[in-house]
Amino acid sequence: MPSECLFCRIVAGELPAAQVYADDAVVAIRDIAPQAPTHILLLSRKHIASVREVGAEDRDLIGRMFAAGAELATREGIAAGGYRLVVNTGRNGGQTVDHLHVHLLGGRPMAWPPG
Ligand code: AMP
Ligand code: ZN
Repeated sequence: MPSECLFCRIVAGELPAAQVYADDAVVAIRDIAPQAPTHILLLSRKHIASVREVGAEDRDLIGRMFAAGAELATREGIAAGGYRLVVNTGRNGGQTVDHLHVHLLGGRPMAWPPG
């Protein structure tokens, strides 16, 4: 685990976060700067810098991150209305933290195309 990685430190409990879910593969926290009424980040426990570094051995993990997102959308009461799961990747993709995470956004209509 890179000791300087923000999300590794949150997963390890070294930095505070509003945790809403955790299992042996995934930790979910509320985003510190929410962009929608519900804005949750699904973090992999394993340090993976981005989608570019996802390997075949991570297939189960990726499925579990999306399944946790769907479960949390139901718990948050936004599943029926619809929501968005987003994985920003690299500079043009808008990624600012180099640790794999899925944004769960909902509670308002989303525009398309994204900015
Ligand atoms: P991205 O730009 O896709 O890499 O997403 C990083 C997200 O992490 C942004 O939405 C930030 O608001 C969020 N973020 C940064 N620091 C924290 C923190 N300490 N706790 C919770 N969310 C954070
Ligand atoms: Zn990390």
